Amino acid sequence: MPNSFYITTPIYYVNDVPHIGHAYTTIAADVLARWRRLIGEEVFFLTGLDEHGQKVQQAAAKAGVSPQEHCDRLTPQFRTLWEKLAISNDGFIRTTDGRHQAVVQRFLQELYDKQLIYRAEYTGWYCTFDERFWTEKDVDNGRCPDCQRPVEQLSESNYFFRMSQFQQRLLDHLEANPTFIRPESRRNEVLGFLQKPLEDLSISRPKSRLSWGIELPFDADYVTYVWFDALVNYVSALEYLPPQPSVDRWWPATVHLVGKDILTTHAVYWSTMLMALEISLPHAIFAHGWWTVDGEKMSKSRGNVVDPYAVIDRFGADAFRYFLLREIPFGQDGDFSHESFVGRINADLANGLGNLLSRTVTLIQRFCHGAVPAPDPSSITGLETDLQAAAESLMQKTLSHHLRRVEFNRTLEAIWGLVQLGNQYIDKTAPWVLAKNPDDAQRLHTVLFHAAETLRFLCLAVYPFMPDTAQEMARQLGLPYDFSRALLKAPVAWGDQESGATVVKGKALFPRVEAAASQSPAKPQPEASALSPKDEDNRITIQDFQKVELKVAKVLTAERVPKSNKLLKLQVDLGGEQRQIVAGIGKKYGPDDVVGKTIVVVANLKPAKLMGVESQGMVLAAGDQDVQGLVTFEDAGLEPGTKVK
Ligand SMILES: [Zn+2]
Repeated sequence: MPNSFYITTPIYYVNDVPHIGHAYTTIAADVLARWRRLIGEEVFFLTGLDEHGQKVQQAAAKAGVSPQEHCDRLTPQFRTLWEKLAISNDGFIRTTDGRHQAVVQRFLQELYDKQLIYRAEYTGWYCTFDERFWTEKDVDNGRCPDCQRPVEQLSESNYFFRMSQFQQRLLDHLEANPTFIRPESRRNEVLGFLQKPLEDLSISRPKSRLSWGIELPFDADYVTYVWFDALVNYVSALEYLPPQPSVDRWWPATVHLVGKDILTTHAVYWSTMLMALEISLPHAIFAHGWWTVDGEKMSKSRGNVVDPYAVIDRFGADAFRYFLLREIPFGQDGDFSHESFVGRINADLANGLGNLLSRTVTLIQRFCHGAVPAPDPSSITGLETDLQAAAESLMQKTLSHHLRRVEFNRTLEAIWGLVQLGNQYIDKTAPWVLAKNPDDAQRLHTVLFHAAETLRFLCLAVYPFMPDTAQEMARQLGLPYDFSRALLKAPVAWGDQESGATVVKGKALFPRVEAAASQSPAKPQPEASALSPKDEDNRITIQDFQKVELKVAKVLTAERVPKSNKLLKLQVDLGGEQRQIVAGIGKKYGPDDVVGKTIVVVANLKPAKLMGVESQGMVLAAGDQDVQGLVTFEDAGLEPGTKVK
């Protein structure tokens, strides 16, 4: 029976569209999955979506749709991106799937029956953004220690998982398994975290505050905390997604890839949950770093969010895959800049690999009638034996060595070492000179054979990273490779290539990005927009705009929504009609600031509930995460109900 390799990405939270961070983890997982299949292992590669929780409920309310509708709308954004990026996942899980929910409820009931879940009153500081409570000592000047957003004091009765009971067992496990958390620096973080006493984990949310979740099997007034629900996906999926569903077959997972921000939830929550359920722990959790853009944190308000769709449309999926994994060690933070991306495309891809293929194919066509020639053993020199040794060492040792350690950048460095050697080989042997002298015909054949053989090795080596490129290389080299098969199960040997294969001249693998197009004008907008152009797809017609009914409204009364520092409940006059609107402007404005103001509202938004309060419209305001100003009129005498266009 072949080895099993079960790899997961986090399931992505559907409060927003996919960005570079989602693409990064998923590409990394894809490379490992493709490589393991290539060497003959059985692979199950799982990704999916985390669809419950407060932020999803809020995003849906903001969009004026039901949470399920919101999830259904966002799902294709992820699925289509994975197709465009050639992601070869075997399973795609959604936590709103009834089959997943049943497993979550079964696990909860099991822990409840074992008295590992209890109910208690809790008062603490709650961060809405992170959906979690903090203790007095955690809170920093009234702000969440994680995200720095203001926290609010909340008191509620909840169910708790006895996580604290498992602290020592988890420490022992980390001690006994030095590669359980990787890289080493992240392992040390987790060990540091576990130096403090571990608290029990609140695993419920009262429905009065949050209804969008999996109901607790033992108390219908509560839903499950979104992390408890989400983490279970790694096991629940195995019950119904693989071709022959089996937890025993695939569990424990070989590796969970996660971003560094969700390491604790995986290393601590998930591990202790599994211990309590008497399920073995995954072999490894690998936490990678974050991407900045041009040295700055990515954020909507800065307008520098890298839209993966736009990058792929302009530069191709393989160049994107290559850049993300080549630029920085997996595990460290990296910076995405237009210059470095274009620099890599031109130097490594166009001038490096692309050039090696194109010149080799051209030379074989020109001097050998388009068929890979047979080498002549008597004309082999040190140049050839060096090239062969480098290629064999790459395929038989280096690839496996680095990929088993999840060292993508070093793998690519090693592969590009061979690319460079191949180009130098052609420069040194100068086949165009050999071709001038009929006495050098055998030597010429030997050289072109070795160049083609180098490219065959490279084609196999780059496949996990750049699957489309590998296909195109194989096509141009006349190689009958079917990459869905375990082509590296047996070691590839130099000279396996049957000479006589017909090469085909094709398009350049990676066209150079010309200086004019690659020039980065003054910051910040033009450059960011080059990478994430708001292209035609994002534009709307006047008819689209006219669907939005904007009206002048006058604020009659305003009060704060209890337990929220952000929401104000407004009663507004809409001209012969009074409406209740809940607006997220409470951090900037108090109730007294807005009463009497003439504002603009979206009048035809579907009603939605915010913190349990119905909102029949939306107030226009400026700002992204935080509201910075209300849209008002200087002329306060405007008649409520007047159309705004
Ligand atoms: Zn927070």
